[in-house]
Amino acid sequence: MVTRREFIRKASIAAGAITLTGLAQCRSGQAGSGNKPAGGRVIDAHIHLTPGKVKKALQAMEENSIRYAVVIASIAGSDPNLYVGDKAFYEILDSIKPYPNRLALHYTYDWSLAETDPEFFNKAPDMLEKAVNAGAIALKNLKQLGLVARDFEGKLIAIDDTRLFPIWERAEKLGIPVAFHTGDPVAFFKPWEPANERWDELKLHPEWSFSDRSKYPPLETLFEQANNVYRKFTGIRFVSVHVGGYSENLAAVSRWLDEIPNLSVDTAARIGELGKHPSQEGYDFFNKYRDRIMFGTDMAYWNECDVEGAGPCKDFTAEEIKKFYDIHWRYFQTRDKKFDHPTPIQGNWKIDGIGLNEEVAGKIYWDNAFRFYKLDRFGVA
Ligand SMILES: [Zn+2]
Repeated sequence: MVTRREFIRKASIAAGAITLTGLAQCRSGQAGSGNKPAGGRVIDAHIHLTPGKVKKALQAMEENSIRYAVVIASIAGSDPNLYVGDKAFYEILDSIKPYPNRLALHYTYDWSLAETDPEFFNKAPDMLEKAVNAGAIALKNLKQLGLVARDFEGKLIAIDDTRLFPIWERAEKLGIPVAFHTGDPVAFFKPWEPANERWDELKLHPEWSFSDRSKYPPLETLFEQANNVYRKFTGIRFVSVHVGGYSENLAAVSRWLDEIPNLSVDTAARIGELGKHPSQEGYDFFNKYRDRIMFGTDMAYWNECDVEGAGPCKDFTAEEIKKFYDIHWRYFQTRDKKFDHPTPIQGNWKIDGIGLNEEVAGKIYWDNAFRFYKLDRFGVA
């Protein structure tokens, strides 16, 4: 694997190439380093943030045309003592309160409570309502649900378990969107061995491997459970993050989007996978679902270090964060070939840009998240 410094240098050099399609046609040099997102303003609908990093996040947003960012989960503390749930939610909420037109937060359950508190299912809807009254703009369900979260009897809790229905009913009544992280990269469900295409990542995080079928359900089961919830609760706006958890299979995600009108997806930490598809296939997907896809990166500003979507945790410089965002603009706005993707640890391959036009890019960068989260109420502009 190339070092981060080499990676950045290569990306900058290649970015100078003039392309012949997409936006670059009317605005030469649109791609890559030193350039701007189409429309000049972006909502990053998927970041992570802990209270000590608010200033850094706001600065990075300012420098990268990110006018607004959605902190998609209440996860706080410092690794290895991260925590989710109420404590994290209220800590983060306090830290972003001064910036209502820049940052917002999802409420996130600590699913381990279902295993330790026999009353959890009864309490959960009120926990959500309290969080929404305090300022949560949505509910985010972490991937633990369906995969590892267990009830008081020690049984896995399926995503479409009826004991969770009162939570979704309350979300519908409160009028908030609900986000699901379902599954994980297909490779994480394949054997944990050096031949795995995401070996660099799995070696670093053995806990991300869900290949043991005696412990974890297959990926398809998780998708079907989540889809059952989307189908049943038609009054909720759902977002399935990380391209529905299935960026490897855009045909499947397309089928879900066709069938389930209240479903959207985001692009967080999946440019590497998306850019692996033939350019035209990626273009067709984004063009067809131009009103259902939100731009997100998974940029994480943790207390002790930052993570650029995936990979090492370190204090990234302003220049490095700019490179990270610039690769996204390059993917969406040019038809450049064979350049480095933003999350090198996810795999050692190159990606091709899809060259969306300015109108479609603008929907994905701005309009869709603005509408989904009703951001007019916060004076976001
Ligand atoms: Zn995330």
